[in-house]
Amino acid sequence: MRPRRTGVGETEQIIKLLMVLRRQGISDNDVLSAIERVPRDLFVAESFASHAYDDKALPIECGQTISQPYVVAYMTQALQTNDRCKVLEIGTGSGYQAAVVSYLSRRVYSIERYRSLLTQAQARFDHLGLTNITAVTGDGSKGWPEQAPFDRIIVTAAAAEVPENLVEQLKIGGIMVIPVTISGNVQTLVRIIRQEDRVVREDLLPVRFVPLVEGVAKEL
Ligand code: SAH
Repeated sequence: MRPRRTGVGETEQIIKLLMVLRRQGISDNDVLSAIERVPRDLFVAESFASHAYDDKALPIECGQTISQPYVVAYMTQALQTNDRCKVLEIGTGSGYQAAVVSYLSRRVYSIERYRSLLTQAQARFDHLGLTNITAVTGDGSKGWPEQAPFDRIIVTAAAAEVPENLVEQLKIGGIMVIPVTISGNVQTLVRIIRQEDRVVREDLLPVRFVPLVEGVAKEL
C-alpha cells in the first residue's frame, strides 16, 4: 500500500468536498463524517490522487469507475443504515463505497466480479483497519444467499431491472438502493423497501453506473 498523499491542502480539499456535498443536499452528518474519515486518495491510482477530492467519478482498473463522491454520499444517505445493520454491497470496485458504509453499519459483505479489484480493495481495508468488511470475488447478481437476510443492500452497478432474488435477500423492513436502467444509458437510482406484504419502490435520482454483469470476470 503506497503512503497517503498528505501534504498540501489535503485536509482543506476534504473540507471543500464536504461543503460541496452539503450544498447539494447531503444533510446527514453521520454520512458526511464517514466521507471525511475515508481517504479517497488511497482508492484511486496514484496518477489520479491529486483529483481524489474533486466531486467526480474517476477510472479504476478493469475499465471500471469509482463513483462520484456526491453519488456515494447520496446512496449512503438513502440507505439509512445504523450500527446494527448487516449490509450487502454488490460491486466492491475500489472499495471506497464499502469503506464509507463500514463506518455506518455493523458489518458489510461486498462482492466483486474482478479478482484483481477485490485484492486491491481488500489491501485498502486491511491498511485502514476496516475489520467489519468481508469481501469476496463472485457474481453479485445472485446476492449472497449464505449470508442473507440483510438489513440493507446497496448495488453499485446498473441492473436491467430490480433483481427479484436480491429483494428476497432483504429482511422485512429492509432497504435496497440500486441503479436501474430505464433505456439506453439512462439510469435511475431506485430505493426499494421490503414490507411484510408488498415491495415499495421509489425513483430517486438520475445516475450513470457501469452495468451489472453476470458471472465472475475472466482475467488474464
Ligand atoms: N462501489 C465501487 C464502484 C465500483 S463500479 C467503488 O466505490 O469504487 C461497479 C463495480 O461493480 C465494478 O467494479 C464491476 O466490476 C462490479 N460488478 C459489475 N457486475 C457485478 C456482479 N455481477 N457481481 C459483482 N460485481 C459486479
